[in-house]
Amino acid sequence: MHQLGEALGAGWVAPAGPVPRAFEAAISEATGLPHVLATSSGTAALHLGFRTLGLEAGDEVWTSTLTFVATIAPALQMGAKVRLFDVDPASGLMDIELLRQELAAAARRGRLPRVVVPVDLYGSPVDMPALRDACDAWGVPVLSDSAEAMGASLGNRHAGAGARAAVFSFNGNKIVTAGGGGALASDDARLIEDARRLANHAKEDGPLYQHDSAGYAYGMSSVLAAVGLAQMVVLDVRVQARRAIHARYRAALSDLPGASFLAEPPGGRANRWLTVLRIGPEARLHRDTLRRALDAAGIETRAVFKPLHLQPILRGAPVAGGAQAAALFQEGLCLPSGSALTREEQSRVIAAIRAAWPS
Ligand SMILES: *Cc1c(COP(=O)(O)O)cnc(C)c1O
Repeated sequence: MHQLGEALGAGWVAPAGPVPRAFEAAISEATGLPHVLATSSGTAALHLGFRTLGLEAGDEVWTSTLTFVATIAPALQMGAKVRLFDVDPASGLMDIELLRQELAAAARRGRLPRVVVPVDLYGSPVDMPALRDACDAWGVPVLSDSAEAMGASLGNRHAGAGARAAVFSFNGNKIVTAGGGGALASDDARLIEDARRLANHAKEDGPLYQHDSAGYAYGMSSVLAAVGLAQMVVLDVRVQARRAIHARYRAALSDLPGASFLAEPPGGRANRWLTVLRIGPEARLHRDTLRRALDAAGIETRAVFKPLHLQPILRGAPVAGGAQAAALFQEGLCLPSGSALTREEQSRVIAAIRAAWPS
């Protein structure tokens, strides 16, 4: 944590100075994305992504229905219309075939989306080449919500690479954290330059306080950047730890009738930020029954995200399919997956799940 002392000692506690730049360089190094802006949150980075891609009120944004609300909240605030997509049941990721069909139909109607936002759910990378292939056919840019996917990869590329821009989160619950924070990353220097200006009150270069548009206070403070920088060093270790936890759950529970786990897409290496146990109908055990049994044993688990098409704020939004996401929501339980989970703690979780499972 010597960077923290350095940041404070040098008087750099504002979102300027060398520490946020060093954090950005570390993110660039880890992701292979050459241009990075560190932000106050992943949600702020999404907002800047929408702004720099030219999203305007009335434009359409297409995304997976199975995600955390932050994926889409900035677009809703900007007055965009959201179209939601079902997921592939094996991976829980946006159904790319469905996207391909809907893009063709939208092109026939003459109303393509302004941006498509795939989500690397629970740290599983979407098949970016396939997604890009579908979107490039119509010139639609991709903003990747890779908030949960730091350290995940597909082939030899990091999650989010290949999109016009990718978003990462360093919120306290993510695999590496700055306590709070995010990043917008891209191959495009201009896009990140635009985002950087917007994040700093849209202040134009030069000594005078000149503003040509209304910006935001979305920069990351030096204090948090120092924390994030220290965490980047342990990213690989964290990914290995979470993957090992996932592998052990899989080995210890897969024989239970109806039990299954989300699959990595072909060629993908998930960071397994959270392990999702799926409790299929064959189990004759409701997800919430299991959740309550574990809770009574002092084990905290969480339901899979409630799909956006079932959320009151998106009532009436068009949705392509939705049944797969709804089923995953009903049957999915996020198990304790923290990098610091000990073998003994995990054994206790496994034993409690086996005890609650009808034989
Ligand atoms: C955490 C998260 C975000 C938002 O990141 P914050 O840093 O908390 O603003 C966005 N999308 C997804 C899928 C997330 O899990």
